[in-house]
Amino acid sequence: MRSPCVTPAIVLRSWPFGESDKIVSFLTESHGKVTGIAKGAARSRRRFVNTLEPFSLVNLRFQDRPHSTLAFVQACDPIRFFKDLTASLEKIAYASYLVEIADGLAGEREENRKLFGHLREGLVFIEENGPSLSFLTFFELRLLKLSGYQPVLEHCRRCARDFRENAQPGWSFSARDGGVLCGSCSTLRRETIPLSGAALQALLELQRAGSILPQHLSLSPVLKESRPALLRFLQYQARKELKSAFFLDDFL
Ligand SMILES: [Zn+2]
Repeated sequence: MRSPCVTPAIVLRSWPFGESDKIVSFLTESHGKVTGIAKGAARSRRRFVNTLEPFSLVNLRFQDRPHSTLAFVQACDPIRFFKDLTASLEKIAYASYLVEIADGLAGEREENRKLFGHLREGLVFIEENGPSLSFLTFFELRLLKLSGYQPVLEHCRRCARDFRENAQPGWSFSARDGGVLCGSCSTLRRETIPLSGAALQALLELQRAGSILPQHLSLSPVLKESRPALLRFLQYQARKELKSAFFLDDFL
């Protein structure tokens, strides 16, 4: 029998299973996404001391089970509960969205320490600073990069025309093409979302910012315009509808 794995992890989702168990999905630091069964978790909270609630940062100990994709959750010790995250509906909406898009893009059992760190830092940021549209967009763009889906924003995906040298109107975003299209190429695609030069420029600056949200940029008004394009791209890559996005709409 394999020995248990121990890793920091963030609870993504949990749901009841049978009368007394819970299925829990985690983003772990060293094993990517892990889904496991927590025996007795629905009946008694003592054993897991509320550590299976969404956004909990825990030290997870799990063991793989033969012939099953569900691991056996042996223990979940709290590292951080993010109590202030659940103090306002707005923070809950943002945190739920961050967790859902990370869940959608992270690979099962694919180690991605930077992706785990990005989600952890994202939850810390929302808890300590409150939500902002600039942060949300920065989080999305970096998440896409770290999970291998970075959209191309510098040049047209079809004809390679450079946006900065051809900043005339008509540019749009195409989820199917994985980035932006110039005015001419946009006419060849049906499912594109128009982007103004200012919005595209703002996205480019955030994408180039690396791992730290640039404080000197005040981008919120133009970023609102890019919401539909980014959301469609995230849903396209996650291959599912992102339910928490509708809840988030009330606060943007
Ligand atoms: Zn083009």
